[in-house]
Amino acid sequence: MTVVVVSNRVVSPKPNAPIEGGLAGALLPAVRDAGAIWVGASDRLSSGKDPLIEIEPLGEGAIARVDMPAEFYERYYEGYSNAVLWPAFHSRTDLIRSSQTDYTAYREVNAFMARSLLRFTHSGSAYWVHDYHFLLLADELRKLGITRPIGFFLHTPFPSRNIMLSVPQHDELVRAMLSYDLIGFQTEDDLTHFADYLKRELDLEGKDDTYVFEGRPVHLQAFPIGINVQDFAERATKASAQPEITRLRASIQGRKLAIGVDRLDYSKGLPNRIRAVDRMFEIAPEMRGSMHLLQIAVPSRTHIPAYQELKQEISQLVGDVNGRVGDVDWTPIRYLNRSYSQAALAGFYRVADVGLVTPLNDGMNLVAKEYVAAQNPLDPGVLVLSEFAGAARQLDSAVLVNPHDIEAVARGLIQALTMTIAERRERWNAMMAKMKDFALDAWFNDYVAVLMDCRKPARVVV
Ligand code: UDP
Repeated sequence: MTVVVVSNRVVSPKPNAPIEGGLAGALLPAVRDAGAIWVGASDRLSSGKDPLIEIEPLGEGAIARVDMPAEFYERYYEGYSNAVLWPAFHSRTDLIRSSQTDYTAYREVNAFMARSLLRFTHSGSAYWVHDYHFLLLADELRKLGITRPIGFFLHTPFPSRNIMLSVPQHDELVRAMLSYDLIGFQTEDDLTHFADYLKRELDLEGKDDTYVFEGRPVHLQAFPIGINVQDFAERATKASAQPEITRLRASIQGRKLAIGVDRLDYSKGLPNRIRAVDRMFEIAPEMRGSMHLLQIAVPSRTHIPAYQELKQEISQLVGDVNGRVGDVDWTPIRYLNRSYSQAALAGFYRVADVGLVTPLNDGMNLVAKEYVAAQNPLDPGVLVLSEFAGAARQLDSAVLVNPHDIEAVARGLIQALTMTIAERRERWNAMMAKMKDFALDAWFNDYVAVLMDCRKPARVVV
């Protein structure tokens, strides 16, 4: 049984390359170990009509890179995917920039990817499509006569119905999504939002989360994504001897360290996080000179105006705090606009006393899970986690905060920085136990098992 996995980007399999976002990091080990074929965009664009595909082996599986159509790619990626669907799915309707031309490009690229996948009709026994870039892909594949199981997994949140209604093409998108056999979500909340849309907009009632649309069953299920806990823990132990980690440890000179690692994205709540650190220095002046925040903010979608504005806003806020609160021998916030390998991140996480993960809205947030996995079991750090990250469902022993409440985040940070070792251990053990129940390989295998079941006659609901 070979699964053909599809996502917009495929990852570079080089061992020390940074991972571009949670999706790629999650799929890489799954594909390598489960022998799947992973199809996604190459770095090249093509102007021909026929898809150009380059295939390279990856562990037990393979990566297939498709040259995407030059005429439509930008409007599909920066336009419809990331200036309509991404803001809508993160409940930022104010940032939606919609145009019919962008939507046409989105449809064209989905149709193009469907044609590209015909290359794998004989090698794949099922298709598993990832994320909001390809909501229309199953529909396009069905038009080409594909009858194999096709699953979809949404890595982002699915918004409440009234927010979904703000996407001009919501009706066409959701109807097309119902061509999938299985739609996977990160959380039960996301599933509930989708089911509510189906009920109120399409008058569909499900039974055991299975719906019948145009005579075919569609199953909805939450599959919270995890990480390879053991792998991350080992990386963190090994990393402690690396020069970068040694330099970091030496530079903090016995002060406390909090760490934030995010793409520079408005869903991650970075301005509020900086404000909360600022507020913390006001309500706990003893923290001045005795702690740093290391904030890694990886540039992302840099051509989109909302991202450019956000970058300016954060730089200003950081500059303001450092200028006002800092001292000749102490910079409160170390702010870095670059990416690191996961091996280096694992080492940074282990040095940090606090992991500060405060997105306004996040499908899962793997950084939160990685931070926990990387801790020293004898002297673990504390995770301060937004209640609006999908990860909060599993990591409910973190210090949970409302990222809109700056005062609460500041107090959560103080609580974390001053927590007793007994409480730190207790919380960490509880989180590790939960994370082992939601391991990455189980996520992959469970999803595929349910998907393969979907087209068996027993699932058909009448
Ligand atoms: N990451 C990385 N290098 C960096 C920053 C992040 O490899 O410099 C990885 C990180 O380890 C994590 C992923 O990128 O696996 C981010 O995933 P997350 O779910 O936290 O957020 P997303 O970017 O998908 O919204």
